[in-house]
Amino acid sequence: MIILALGTNIEPREQYLKEALKKIEANNLKIKLQSSVYETPAWGGVANQDFLNMCIEVKTSLGAYELLDTIQKIELELGRVRKEHWGNRTIDIDIIAFNNLIFNDDRLVVPHKYIHERNFVLAPLAEMYGNIKIAGKNIKESLEKITEPISVYKEKL
Ligand code: AMP
Repeated sequence: MIILALGTNIEPREQYLKEALKKIEANNLKIKLQSSVYETPAWGGVANQDFLNMCIEVKTSLGAYELLDTIQKIELELGRVRKEHWGNRTIDIDIIAFNNLIFNDDRLVVPHKYIHERNFVLAPLAEMYGNIKIAGKNIKESLEKITEPISVYKEKL
């Protein structure tokens, strides 16, 4: 199971998500499952507009690093300016899980480091899969522990 998380906090936010999904499909990735779009307040103290987030499950013959190259290419094409860590972004795409494999090097940390602390990843995953474990921990249990606000922005993009 290969799961990607998408986030954006620059208008037109919905358009950036749609464009990203289009580009994903145009790059050897087939979208098998798609969560609702969620809205969360800006985080990290740097960003100043609320985020839209969603997760997708993709099928691909690409390896993990080729997938990383592809999503970074898409981020660049959609004009992400890498100014500040956790700052405003047109589109951020992260690899959340890659077929139960573990990567832990300078380029790639999978399962993604912050899965169990971010409601905007946990909520879409719980919606898509119910009660699954990632990195040995239950998604729904982690989600219940988070008190920060999150709401469904749109059920189907
Ligand atoms: P960010 O600014 O949060 O998008 O981080 C981008 C950097 O995180 C890139 O240099 C990637 O090589 C690295 N990275 C590490 N693990 C992952 C992952 N699971 N998904 C996407 N980028 C990752």
